[in-house]
Amino acid sequence: MRYPFINLSHVNAPYINDIERALTEVARSGWFLHGPQVEAFEKELAASCGSKATVAVSNGLDAIRLIFRAYIELGRLHEGDEVLVPANTFIASILPLTELKLRPVLVEPDPATHNLDWRRALTMITPRTKALLAVHLYGTPCWDYATATAMREKGILIVEDNAQAIGASAATPGFNGNTLTGNLGDAAAFSFYPTKNIGAMGDAGAVASSDNELLQKVATLANYGSDRRYHNIHAGWNCRMDEFHAATLRIKLRHLHEISAQRQHTAAIYDKTLNNPLIIKPAIFDGMRQVWHQYVVRTADRDKFMGYLASHEIGCDIHYPTPPHLQPCYKGILTGDLPITERLAGEVLSLPIASTPDNDIEEICHIINNYS
Ligand SMILES: *Cc1c(COP(=O)(O)O)cnc(C)c1O
Repeated sequence: MRYPFINLSHVNAPYINDIERALTEVARSGWFLHGPQVEAFEKELAASCGSKATVAVSNGLDAIRLIFRAYIELGRLHEGDEVLVPANTFIASILPLTELKLRPVLVEPDPATHNLDWRRALTMITPRTKALLAVHLYGTPCWDYATATAMREKGILIVEDNAQAIGASAATPGFNGNTLTGNLGDAAAFSFYPTKNIGAMGDAGAVASSDNELLQKVATLANYGSDRRYHNIHAGWNCRMDEFHAATLRIKLRHLHEISAQRQHTAAIYDKTLNNPLIIKPAIFDGMRQVWHQYVVRTADRDKFMGYLASHEIGCDIHYPTPPHLQPCYKGILTGDLPITERLAGEVLSLPIASTPDNDIEEICHIINNYS
């Protein structure tokens, strides 16, 4: 492949010497869990994401799972409660809800943002609706301040799935400038899966919130449910982050701004250069900062377009080809009339964004502009 979709050794190359040094230090320290790296990472993540505090955990799925379980243990959510979620999300947004016997209510996206349509979500509220999961898909903030405020006034918790949008921000009236994703709602889940904008060398995640009681509960649940050593107040899980991942992430987190800026720069080249009417470009929005976890175009005959890209050695990927409600595991469980979600799943295609040099992006654009 002349233009790979992503190359993680390229992505990590600028930091690899620092990471090697840090990993060696951890190996020699003999301290692998509950150590100084995780403690420092939690503080640094909070500082760079504008959160009051964070808890480092094992991965993004567990971060979401811990937030909802913690709300249940705190008595703020109950089995059978309805949670509004986007229908066109990665399945990890939804797996924790069904596992915890909460009821995901699937909301169609706004095709302009690819994110949950807030106005539509508002019309789907019932007396059982107790939470909304805002997924900042592809690095575009999923936010509508007025609607979110109206929901919170009804006592609906807003949880953010910030797996794809670390460093993004959205305008929040009353504040000067933008608010970073992860601070828009009541609690937020982060993922540091290797291909995410800040990626570990393995699985890692985090929970952020300004609610100390919630974070305490998350930390307890993530450590077997023990509030102190060998004393278990909940039948919890083991969802800890280890010192190696924390050490790696601390280094990459210092470069968050330039990592986001690089992706914005690449998205701007695509936006300026792509001009093929068969290919719909993603919108760049005023009043928010998008961090371009994916650069997702749409096209009616995707198979044909993918064949064309392959013949020119351009890598691509689909996020996501099958929406959760059409997955075999959710047959008969997740239902709904979701034509927008299903149409988008058939049309979306992600182009290289993570580690591709500018001149390659320009060549990719010229090749795509010649597609007919
Ligand atoms: C990656 C991702 C997750 C899951 O994170 P993991 O760390 O892979 O468990 C959840 N939601 C979204 C939107 C994601 O992109």
